[in-house]
Amino acid sequence: MAELPDARPSADDLTAGEDLCAFIDASPSPFHAVAEMARRLEADGFRRLDERDRWALEPGDAGYVIRDGGSIAAFRVGTAPAAEAGFRVVGAHTDSPTFRVRPRAEVSKAGYGQLTVEVYGGPLHYTWLDRDLTLAGRVALADGRVELVHLPGAPLRIPTLAIHLNRDLYEKGLKLNPQLHLVPVLSARAEGAGLADLLEGVVDADVTGWDLVLVDTQPSALGGMDRQFVLAPRQDNLVSCYAGVEALLDTEPGPATQVVVCNDHEEVGSRSAEGAAGPFLEDVLRRLIAAAGDADPQSLPRAVAGSVLVSADAAHAVHPNHADSHDAEHRPRLGGGPVIKTHASQAYATDARTLAWFTARCADAGVPVQHFTNRADSQSGSTIGPLTATRLGLPTVDVGNPLLSMHSIREQSAAVDLLHLVGALRQHLVHA
Ligand SMILES: [Zn+2]
Repeated sequence: MAELPDARPSADDLTAGEDLCAFIDASPSPFHAVAEMARRLEADGFRRLDERDRWALEPGDAGYVIRDGGSIAAFRVGTAPAAEAGFRVVGAHTDSPTFRVRPRAEVSKAGYGQLTVEVYGGPLHYTWLDRDLTLAGRVALADGRVELVHLPGAPLRIPTLAIHLNRDLYEKGLKLNPQLHLVPVLSARAEGAGLADLLEGVVDADVTGWDLVLVDTQPSALGGMDRQFVLAPRQDNLVSCYAGVEALLDTEPGPATQVVVCNDHEEVGSRSAEGAAGPFLEDVLRRLIAAAGDADPQSLPRAVAGSVLVSADAAHAVHPNHADSHDAEHRPRLGGGPVIKTHASQAYATDARTLAWFTARCADAGVPVQHFTNRADSQSGSTIGPLTATRLGLPTVDVGNPLLSMHSIREQSAAVDLLHLVGALRQHLVHA
């Protein structure tokens, strides 16, 4: 086995780790994540395009487009036509497991005022107990505006049942029925405790609709020995969104057109207008070709055949207390660099050619690389890579930074891995 890379973060790693924490704290919902990515892109001269407009682009032009608030595609037009040089795409997702406020949210039980929520994706339920919670997302107003909201303070909490009232907990484990046991408490009195009361003073018109989710209020932080760990929520998959945008901001135009696409709805299967199984990326690629003045219907399939998609999503780091949960030869470690994921049954889209591509880009960047496959007797999740590969026929490699506590309210990664991933993605974007 090769020598292990150093886990101690450099000054640059700590700066990047703190910037990631700021990015995550500014991104409590997919809509906020997209707004924060747009802000960073605009600050670097990327121009916002509207899907309703006719686009016209020159080589080297940099821009971005947003679909329905939760998905974003940023690009830099290549110096060669896409039909000749293809696309270098990075894919990630903006959403994370959480709980979504229902349309008729207010309930009262045993005199308490509560808000009812639906499970979004696959959160580790018990990690949301006894946390100081608030709401974030977007609201539609009676006058037609849509506004992002992130409520101040910690108005909500899901209390645990005391051990004294749950005596067989140690023998039977914690069983939580999401309909009954995960309803956040807003007030000890039902009167005057509703969503409208919470939003009073936050928005200046009547609220007629909402996409609001529960979020933790504890700020992200660096911790562990030498502050080597990033301790933060939503690292699946805001780490990859952050790394993709940072890589794109850092690169010069290359021959290939560079695209970073971050889709909503991955945690619930990606089947939506803005999800990775929908037409968003295909629409953007098609328009990037047409906007450069190429009307040949053969150009999209030609470009796709010469493209590579790096699908970046969190990877399972080996857990010291559960090391046997991984195949013995495929145990990614925190601080060991980006992980390439392969799966014989195509839950990951990686193949020999795309694995070789990403391995070479890690070598170009001087960063270590690790491997993950499932144990033969267990199934882990899938990601956007196979969906995009299936829809568009893009040659795809599934990768991601190693993560502990995946789908917990608070996850753990290594600060040194962040610049590793940014470096590898940058090499991918510029490589001919
Ligand atoms: Zn993910």
